[in-house]
Amino acid sequence: MSKIDLLQINDPKGELPDSFYKYSIKKEIKYPTLSKNYKSQICIIGAGFTGLSAGLCLAESGFEVIILEANRVGFGASGRNGGQVGSGQRWDQEKIEKHFGFKKAKIFWEISQDAKKEVISRMKLHNIDCDFSPGIINATINRKDTNNLFDEVNNLKKKYQYTKIQKLSSSELSTIIDTELYYGGCLDFGAGHMNPLKFVQGLGTAAKKNNVQIFEKCCVEKIDYGKKNTISISNGYTVVSDYLIIACNGYLGNLEPNISSRVMPINNFILTTEVLGNNLLNSFLNNNYAVADNKFVPNYFRPSPDNRLIFGGGENYTYRFPKDIKTFVRKKMLKVYPQLENTRIDFAWGGTLAVTRNRLPYFAKIQPNVFSASGYSGHGVALSVLAGKIIAELIEGDSKRFNFMNNIPIKPFPGNSNFQWPLLVLGMLWYSLRDRFK
Ligand SMILES: Cc1cc2nc3c(=O)[nH]c(=O)nc-3n(C[C@H](O)[C@H](O)[C@H](O)COP(=O)(O)OP(=O)(O)OC[C@H]3O[C@@H](n4cnc5c(N)ncnc54)[C@H](O)[C@@H]3O)c2cc1C
Repeated sequence: MSKIDLLQINDPKGELPDSFYKYSIKKEIKYPTLSKNYKSQICIIGAGFTGLSAGLCLAESGFEVIILEANRVGFGASGRNGGQVGSGQRWDQEKIEKHFGFKKAKIFWEISQDAKKEVISRMKLHNIDCDFSPGIINATINRKDTNNLFDEVNNLKKKYQYTKIQKLSSSELSTIIDTELYYGGCLDFGAGHMNPLKFVQGLGTAAKKNNVQIFEKCCVEKIDYGKKNTISISNGYTVVSDYLIIACNGYLGNLEPNISSRVMPINNFILTTEVLGNNLLNSFLNNNYAVADNKFVPNYFRPSPDNRLIFGGGENYTYRFPKDIKTFVRKKMLKVYPQLENTRIDFAWGGTLAVTRNRLPYFAKIQPNVFSASGYSGHGVALSVLAGKIIAELIEGDSKRFNFMNNIPIKPFPGNSNFQWPLLVLGMLWYSLRDRFK
């Protein structure tokens, strides 16, 4: 395993973090731990959106599937994120067109549209009640960024026939968000937000109903690749499988060096205020929309069904979370909403996501029978769900979408594993400093 184990360093071992989402679920759904050696056609490491979605799709097609989760289903980013089911990729379409040409840009766009559809259709198919609500506002922090965003909106309407989006002038925006921070924005009705822990638990329940064997508190320590892969768990048992899917994202450590050289963990933080009452919350954020701004380290926020503000913002580039996450995120929240100075903060937590050098996801064929998708770079709620499906399609014999994503050039971070993290830290600090001078 990695020298510093992100699976344990910031959270109580084998438990979900103490987040608002944990508080909001009626009942924690628990799974057993593996207590014998096991053989399966498919073994998946990691029970987040990527792993559960892949497992569910493959089980629906008749494969035997086992999922091994080091902690709990939804322990990773999937059970603790901002819940924003965004459109597109991390790059805007104009940038993708410049880089890859229009034909490929169209495929990137279709994939991102399919990703949102997959999330919604899973909710409907399995009756997952996860408080989904449509509408994300992308808010910009200066005139230049607003003009660029408006160009992107025009482009999406004209070339991609995407009509579920509208521009918001500064005065229109201020009728929805009562802050001086933003200059303009757009409202995307085709995107939305949800409680991610409820959704990931729903995926787990659906997978179980489809005979996926899910085991918690099973940390994979070693993989021996072969025609049959041997996966060794910390409690001494092994799983032998024909296919292996590595779905560990930011929590991978050094389990698979090919992936960890290209996919780097970073930490991001969220708080939830006390219950504010409908009128008070509406006075500074109305219509139940979620908001994400375009800072290099974005602020993202939304109302909860019980009228709290869920506010995410701030990253850190050390392995450990800050000691006082409430204070850390509150500072960012007060820059957007100084009127919340006297508001109590009820919950604050952190999570680890994964970024690639160019911020596009890394779909990898590690061996002929070993696949992975990760590094969604903060835009993975919808994409990771589809990524699981795309890996399942590959195993079922349809390689088209996997090959497309696998052809995105994702370079390793410079330096060996000792130097990658410090270099990333320097790079990220530089960009986050630029935010201050925008
Ligand atoms: C604070 C935060 C806010 C975010 N907000 C948003 C947002 O609003 N919108 C958006 O699109 N994206 C957001 N993201 C990103 C998004 O959550 C992720 O891209 C997505 O959840 C990745 O899912 P995953 O299944 O690939 O990884 P994860 O959910 O991280 O799952 C990986 C799992 O693998 C397990 N694992 C790792 N190693 C082992 C091992 N050796 N053995 C067994 N199990 C192992 C872990 O325990 C974990 O459960 C956010 C992320 C964070 C952290």
